[in-house]
Amino acid sequence: MEKETKLWLKEGDLVFWVKKSSTATSDTISSSAFEDAVVAVGANAVYHVALVVGGGQLLEAVEVVHALPSKGVVRQTLSQAAADGGAGTYLEFFAADLSVDVRYQSAQAAFKKLGAAYNDVFIETCVDLKGQEAYYCCQLVRKCYEEAAGRAIFPTRLLNFRSSEGELIEYWVSYFAERGLEVPENSIGSHPQQLRDSVLLRKIGEHRLSCLGRTLTMARYVVPKDVTSALNFIAGARVKPSGGGRSFTFVEARTGKALCEVPTSDEKQVDEAVRAAKAAYPEWAALSGLERGKVMHKVAETIRENVEQIAYWEVRSNGKSITEARIDILSSADTWDFYGGLAPTVVGEHMPLGGPTRYAYTRREPLGVVGGIGAWNYPFQTATWKIAPALACGNAFVYKPSPLAPITAVILAELLTHCGIPKGVINIVQGEKETGEALCLHSDVNKVSFTGSVPTGQAIMKMCATRNIKPVTLELGGKSALIVFDDADVDNAVVGAMLANYLTQGEVCTNASRVFVHKSVVKEFTDKLLTEVKKLATKVGDPLLDETRMGATICQDHMNKVLGYIDSARKEGATILFGGERVTPSADEVKEGFYLSPCVITDTNDTMKVVREEIFGAVLLIIPFDNEEDAIERVNNTTFGLAAGLFSRNMRRAYQVAARLNAGTVFVNTYNDVDVAVPFGGVKNSGFGRENGMAALQHYTSIKSVYVDTSDKLESPF
Ligand code: NAD
Repeated sequence: MEKETKLWLKEGDLVFWVKKSSTATSDTISSSAFEDAVVAVGANAVYHVALVVGGGQLLEAVEVVHALPSKGVVRQTLSQAAADGGAGTYLEFFAADLSVDVRYQSAQAAFKKLGAAYNDVFIETCVDLKGQEAYYCCQLVRKCYEEAAGRAIFPTRLLNFRSSEGELIEYWVSYFAERGLEVPENSIGSHPQQLRDSVLLRKIGEHRLSCLGRTLTMARYVVPKDVTSALNFIAGARVKPSGGGRSFTFVEARTGKALCEVPTSDEKQVDEAVRAAKAAYPEWAALSGLERGKVMHKVAETIRENVEQIAYWEVRSNGKSITEARIDILSSADTWDFYGGLAPTVVGEHMPLGGPTRYAYTRREPLGVVGGIGAWNYPFQTATWKIAPALACGNAFVYKPSPLAPITAVILAELLTHCGIPKGVINIVQGEKETGEALCLHSDVNKVSFTGSVPTGQAIMKMCATRNIKPVTLELGGKSALIVFDDADVDNAVVGAMLANYLTQGEVCTNASRVFVHKSVVKEFTDKLLTEVKKLATKVGDPLLDETRMGATICQDHMNKVLGYIDSARKEGATILFGGERVTPSADEVKEGFYLSPCVITDTNDTMKVVREEIFGAVLLIIPFDNEEDAIERVNNTTFGLAAGLFSRNMRRAYQVAARLNAGTVFVNTYNDVDVAVPFGGVKNSGFGRENGMAALQHYTSIKSVYVDTSDKLESPF
């Protein structure tokens, strides 16, 4: 039986067609005279090479770009390429020991060469006799890598059309004569064999051509073109609604226009999703942590392969800049890797109880079906933060995204299923309050993890105590603060304050809208901050453009709410130092999007609405303070407790103050840093439970204690 290939090819990897050497008999295969002639001038048997431009484990769907005598430079799946690339016995796979960036860029360079001709006269300037752009197979690979790295990567040599005995090969004499040329001597070029022998290449696998297509079956995941159709996802497939015809309109923040109609999942459909999860759960829970982890690593890799497409839809869902969306998606891939790695560590403990016969052990058991409800500011990441640790522990999941950003959670569910997570382990229901309520009240949902506002969190806690008792994780709002001490590096503090207020249009739960600045540095801080904010204001606009740094506010209502806060500050006597106005980009497509300029406010007092309530927008308040005690007291003077931060060069002070701030996260000389290894969550009205880190795993298992006594005779106390 042929060994199955379990390779995962990546962009920039090389595929070589290997023809058995002329001395072999059993594997010698028929081929064209051209192929034979190419082999004849090489040291042994390699005669064709292609560049991987679409990676994956599943070789039938891996995509390559290569130069074929019959078709020129084409993009094909590896199975098509195997058929068109000519005869051979093996495909060999090589990875280049170069940075990911260079390998990825080599694939990008290959895309630019699609449609070029086959360079049948092997001219090094990459033009054929008709003067058109042209490549032969290993020249294409060399040139793509050269463009990616900005320098020659693979060596060249003099072209050779002579046999190993030094005789000109008859085939090549006629070949060039037909083109009106002499056989070239002393011309620069390369041969696939020479490329294959490069020290920069490492062999990662091989595959018999004859069995390609039999052992390699799955296709690469590609975000579908009709991504907005059928946004409910149950038992491994997008489904049409049973929602009695109810739906909501999804309006794109970027354009201000309706993008699609999303059918609402009613109670019946929520029940269907929960039943699918319940049915799928035993199979998933029965896998070892290691097996679950392996699939989760595949998820991470597939997210990375699709980062551009997923980030594109995250922008269209949420309005944030493409630059930030890419970071969110890549950090979500890290989350899948992190919990994939931790999955085998979800284990119990063993407790000796004295004597040789008595002991106990604990089992960390999954909870069963978990329900998740998310907010709209980090749609893909929020879904990931809940689903990844839950799945690592062996649970099944039903997730309801926010109706304001319903798309990318479905992409995630589809991608998970594609990577091998059993159908039904992940389900997505769409809708507003009623859908969320149906999920929280369902008796087969054994836990709810929620991200959103305090009032909704309160309602959810009540519902989770109504029909059956279920634990909840609540990631709620905040009114965080940043302290800039007199001994701070003011330039760094300005960067920190910007990070604390203007990421994702200010719609970040940990945002420190209250920036307490020591009186002695308030002028310097304000001047420097305003310079930076004014620069940022020039980069507000279409979030799909790379140069944009602040995109569109999530919806019209929220934009008006943020403007309302700014107005209330003005009316209560504060000074608007900069921004806080609607911005209308010039491009027609995005003119009606919900854009606001970053805002800076001063002259507030601690009773003003803008100082007390969560704004959830790009509004920064500069609040002067006199001394450390005063600052700590005012920072803590809020019903929230999500995050806080401080800038100081005095580390003793920094750690002492960090210990006294009532918040789930404290940032010292930085702000809004986030890493999957670090627990995230709040205290007070900002909620409880933790996402990220090993801490999140605690919330997705229950502990069963098992007492054991192995004595032959159990003593009776009676
Ligand atoms: P929201 O409370 O209005 O909605 C959150 C989710 O709950 C949505 O999916 C919504 O449809 C659903 N929902 C609403 N009413 C419900 C009900 N009665 N039963 C069940 N589900 C219901 O919040 P939002 O406007 O989407 O998000 C903004 C808030 O989220 C802010 O306060 C922000 O600080 C907070 N947030 C917190 C974190 C965190 O990790 N702590 C992260 C992001 C956002």
